[in-house]
Amino acid sequence: MPITAKRAPALPPATRSYHRLRKSVHLFCFLAFLAAPFFNIIRFDIPRQRFYFAGYELWINEFGIIFFALMFLMFAIVVSSIFYGRVYCGYMCPQMIFSEASIAFEKRLERWFNKRYPDWRAPVRKRAARTVFYGALGVVSVFLAFAFIAYFVEPRDLLRRLLSLDVHTAGGISGAVVTAITFLDFTLVRQRFCTTVCPYGYLQGMLGDSNTLLICYRDEQRECIECKKCVRVCHMGIDIRTSPFQIECVHCGECIDACEDVLRRRGIEGLIHYTWGEHGREIGGKEPWYRRLGLRDAKRFIACLVLLFYGSGLFVALSMRRAVLVRVAPVRTTLYDIASDGTIHNHFRYTVSNRGKRAAAVLFSIEYLPGARLVMPQNPVQVQTGQTLQGSFEISAPATARMRDVNHFTIVTTTIPEQGNDSFAMTFLMPVRKESP
Ligand code: SF4
Ligand code: SF4
Repeated sequence: MPITAKRAPALPPATRSYHRLRKSVHLFCFLAFLAAPFFNIIRFDIPRQRFYFAGYELWINEFGIIFFALMFLMFAIVVSSIFYGRVYCGYMCPQMIFSEASIAFEKRLERWFNKRYPDWRAPVRKRAARTVFYGALGVVSVFLAFAFIAYFVEPRDLLRRLLSLDVHTAGGISGAVVTAITFLDFTLVRQRFCTTVCPYGYLQGMLGDSNTLLICYRDEQRECIECKKCVRVCHMGIDIRTSPFQIECVHCGECIDACEDVLRRRGIEGLIHYTWGEHGREIGGKEPWYRRLGLRDAKRFIACLVLLFYGSGLFVALSMRRAVLVRVAPVRTTLYDIASDGTIHNHFRYTVSNRGKRAAAVLFSIEYLPGARLVMPQNPVQVQTGQTLQGSFEISAPATARMRDVNHFTIVTTTIPEQGNDSFAMTFLMPVRKESP
C-alpha cells in the first residue's frame, strides 16, 4: 500500500518582518548620523571648544548644561540596555549598519558579474567584482570619515581641508587616518569589531537581568526540523538554539524571520522569539501598555526616574541659559584716583560673551550712587555672535559730604534685543576721612 503523508496546512506568512523593520531603522539612523553634525544636533567642536546639542551652541565653560546633556545621553543608553538588551547594536549602531551594507554590496556585485559575464572564468569574475568593490568602498570611506570627523570639526572647515588635500595639519592627518581605518573596518573587520573591540557588548552583560529583552529559542514540542536556516542568516555566525546569552547576539531578530519562514510553511509557528528574559513572556502578548514597553519591575521604574531627572535638569538648564554672558569686576590695583578738580575715580573691567545666534548690544548704567557718572569709550558695547569682548570703564563721583569711604551701589547691564537686565553689586571707594578732634 502506498504511504500517504499527512501534512498540516501552511500558515499564512508572518505579518511581522524584523528584517524589514531593521532596514527601515537602519536607513533612518544612517540619515540621522549624517545630519546630526551638520544641523548641530550633537557635535563637539574641538578647535573652537564648543559643544552643540539640540541646536544650542554651548561654550565649554557652560559646565552645568554639558554635564546634564552627557548624563542624560549616558543614562538613555543605560536604560535602553536594561530594557531592551542589545537592540541598539542590531538596529541603530553605525558599525553594524555599514558592515551589513558593505557585505550586501559585495555579494550583489559578485552576483552582477556572474550574471553579466558568464563567459569569464570564475576567478576573473571574482577579481573584477573585488576591484570594483574596493574602489567604491574607498570613495565611501572618504565620505563616512568626513561625516565622522564633522562631529569634531566644523564641516565647512573640514570640506576646505579635504578639497585642498590637506594631509599636513592635525585635522588633515586625522582625516586620512580615519579614512584608512574606515576602509579596513568595512572590508576586513566588519562585525568582528562587535565581538572583540566594542565594550558595549560586555557592558550589556552587566546591565541585563531576568526581565531584559532577549532572543530565545523555545521548542518544548520538539518541532525543530534542523534546517539551520536560523544559523545561515545570522551575520554574527552563531546558533541561537544553544543559548540566548551569547555575547555575539545583537538581538537583530533575523533568525526569528528565518524560522517563521520555514516552519509556517509546515503549519507551525516559529520557534525563536523576542522574550522578556529567558523564562519570561514573548513580546506582544496581552499585557498593560507599560509592561509591553518593558516597564516590568521597580528597578526599571527607578532607572526611568533617573533618566527623567537628568532630562528635566537639562531642560531647565537650557531654558535658563542666557545667550549673552556679562561679567563685571572692580580693578583694585589702585583703590581710587583723585582728579585735579577733586573728583574721585574707581576703575572696573567687563567681559561680554555672545553665545547666541544674533549680534547683541550691552548697555551699562549705574544705580544708587547719586551724582556719579559712568565713563566708557563705547556704551552700549556691540558684540557679534561667537565673540568675547573685554574692556574697562570708570565711574567718577564728586567727594560730597553725603559720600562715605565705602559706597554700595549697583551696575546694571541691559542686553538688547532679547534679554532683560543683569545687576552687579559693587562698591565705590573714596579716601578715608579723618575724624575732626
Ligand atoms: S530555522 Fe527554526 S526549524 Fe530551522 S533549525 Fe532554526 S530553529 Fe530549527
Ligand atoms: S542569533 Fe539571531 S538575533 Fe542574534 S545576532 Fe544572530 S540572527 Fe541576530
